[in-house]
Amino acid sequence: TELMAKALAKRIKATILYSTETGTSERYGKMLKKLLDLAFDAKIYCLENYDFNNLDYENLVFVVTSTFGNADPPHNGEEFDKHLRHRLHSYHVQNQELVYFTIFLQTDNINCCREDYNALNDYGTRILNVKYSVFALGSRVYGDNFCAFGRFIDASLHKMGAERICPLGEGDELCGQEESFKIWADNALRTACNTFSIDLNSDFKTTNTLLTTVPAWSESNYRLVHKEKKPIKPLIEALSKIHSKKIQSATVISVTSLQSTTSLHYTILVKLDKGNNSSLNYAAGDHLSIFPGNDPEIVDALLTKLTDGQSPDTPIQMEYLNNEKNWTVDNHIPPIFTLREAFSRFVDISTPPTPQFLQYLVNQAKDEKEKSHLEELAKGQDEYEDWKFYENPNILDVIDKFPSLQIQSTLLLSKLPRLKQRYYSISSSMAMFPNEIHITVGVVQYYTKSGKLCRGVCSNWLNSLKEGATIHCFTKAAPSFQMPSNNSIPIIMVGPGTGIAPFRSFWQQRAIEEDNSSNNFGDMVLYFGCRTPVKDDIYREELEDCVNKKVIKEVYKAYSRAPDEPKQYVQDILSQNGNEVLAMLLDDDGHIYVCGDVSMAAGVTRAIQNILIDYGQFSQEDALEMTKNLKKNGRYHEDIFGLTLRTAEVTEKNRRASQR
Ligand code: FAD
Ligand code: NAP
Repeated sequence: TELMAKALAKRIKATILYSTETGTSERYGKMLKKLLDLAFDAKIYCLENYDFNNLDYENLVFVVTSTFGNADPPHNGEEFDKHLRHRLHSYHVQNQELVYFTIFLQTDNINCCREDYNALNDYGTRILNVKYSVFALGSRVYGDNFCAFGRFIDASLHKMGAERICPLGEGDELCGQEESFKIWADNALRTACNTFSIDLNSDFKTTNTLLTTVPAWSESNYRLVHKEKKPIKPLIEALSKIHSKKIQSATVISVTSLQSTTSLHYTILVKLDKGNNSSLNYAAGDHLSIFPGNDPEIVDALLTKLTDGQSPDTPIQMEYLNNEKNWTVDNHIPPIFTLREAFSRFVDISTPPTPQFLQYLVNQAKDEKEKSHLEELAKGQDEYEDWKFYENPNILDVIDKFPSLQIQSTLLLSKLPRLKQRYYSISSSMAMFPNEIHITVGVVQYYTKSGKLCRGVCSNWLNSLKEGATIHCFTKAAPSFQMPSNNSIPIIMVGPGTGIAPFRSFWQQRAIEEDNSSNNFGDMVLYFGCRTPVKDDIYREELEDCVNKKVIKEVYKAYSRAPDEPKQYVQDILSQNGNEVLAMLLDDDGHIYVCGDVSMAAGVTRAIQNILIDYGQFSQEDALEMTKNLKKNGRYHEDIFGLTLRTAEVTEKNRRASQR
């Protein structure tokens, strides 16, 4: 009967959908597939490759997704996000429910919902036969927006009538994410089996082992074939192919330091020449996505640790033995580049290796003690989490920690994650510089808790570039961070530190518009925060010029470490200017834009709520509702970089909270 149950069960299809920015959700999705294969006919799709019309015909769906930035989908989940919103509107319209059910839905869609009432009327259908569960990845530093996109999918599917067979799983990047995933995946399999009356008790016992074990790494399944030719495909084509995205190139005009040489921080202005390439056109507020290179020192050191004696500068192609035992090109690393190029541009050698990757290393350790230590870390439990937190080890640190490791280049090339792009808020306006893109970059350098100096990959790479160097990139629209189309509307801009980046595109845009028109322009005011005057006051002269020319009405500055002055943050000076803030926002229907670190953005929201209470005499509930509505109605815009300010301190606090 067990065989029978297995055979029947295999006919039930299970669909795993993932969307990912850094690859973790994809990895979890694949782990889940291995588990579901025990009992179902499991298929896995990246959301961008999935035909959404199939959703209505699924039996069993599992979604694994991260959240990008504050509450957005990863880039390959954007279309699914739109699809769900569209269907939800039609469902609500059909049911005469024009009230939004979740704060994650944004305003532009509410308008669409109302205007398109008739068009949507017979479109939206409910998905009554689908059973589902969602695992959401996120970081607790995002507060209420923790796992926002996963939560949104979970709530949407439920609202559309699908049956949630087990509760939403949530994994915190700061602590125990892998463990949370395993617990959810085990539960998901068990409940799915119960739901479809599949009894596979004997296999159930193996779920944890299945989730945690990767197939043994076998050196003989991979080879590097030397190719005499220079790369036949230039880097741009290779990057476009592996990232499934048409990537463009721009040339460095200049890299200049914005802070005084005596400052402890280093922020740079990078000016790029895009020529007349219209694929790199952008609007003020949009982002630039950049494909960086790894630190040459780390690449050099890594190359000396490889034991397969490959020459680092000979063009190669990586091949693997497929199931038919034929040698096939492995496209994880595009052919034909040298090992040095591959480790510089395609492989992530800086992020702490995952527990799964450590498993591949276990058999490469020749020393028994090291082997068992690696085995312990590869479980991804407390010891691994602590090691990651205190030492932030990169692959080189791992090799140094376990000197008996014999590492072949093919192991790293095929199993380390790909080096990912980084996003930057564009700091120029095409109206002022039609052929240029500028970005403002905080150069990331910090010491780990164990005392090691770490340098951020992309910001330090950008800082090392000389005039004429090529950058591979694409522009990404930020529709929810655009200046109001009616330029008589006043705007408040809040951006401490590198959070000032997109506002330079705003003031440049406005300066050109004012030159070309005699319109009655709305006031623009900027709230900027930095540590000390003079040393850290980036764009000071440019801003003074803007104020003199009346492009910006006022620049308010908060100094947090000015000698003999009380510490001030942007929130504090916003609160001091409560009357003006209120008048701009409420009397003149103004817009507020907040850019930068996630905890700062939360602090600014609280400050606005307090202004409504203290200066506007609104109740606490009303103030909360009003800020929510400003966000929902597209008048409170946020461009969140992640955790950038006081990273170590905030991470530690949130990690402690996660452990509780
Ligand atoms: P990485 O190699 O990615 O290292 C950064 C990581 O190091 C952090 O995520 C954190 O895990 C760790 N870390 C950093 N500091 C510490 C610390 N003190 N203690 C412990 N760990 C630490 N950045 C800008 O400078 N300007 C912008 O305009 C800008 N715009 C952005 C817009 C968006 C939409 C997003 C999502 C991000 C933006 N960023 C911006 C951030 C930018 O994308 C990169 O994250 C940043 O430059 C760091 O990248 P990196 O490769 O140099 O560092
Ligand atoms: P910064 O100079 O460190 O900070 C700007 C101002 O914001 C300072 O006055 C700071 O005060 C203040 N601040 C700190 N916490 C705040 C909060 N919760 N609310 C409001 N204000 C707050 O900023 P930066 O120039 O943008 O650089 C920050 C660091 O982040 C740099 O060292 C850079 O290397 C790094 N960075 C990291 C990333 C990333 O990891 N993704 C991206 C960009 C920049 P204090 O004096 O209290 O600190």
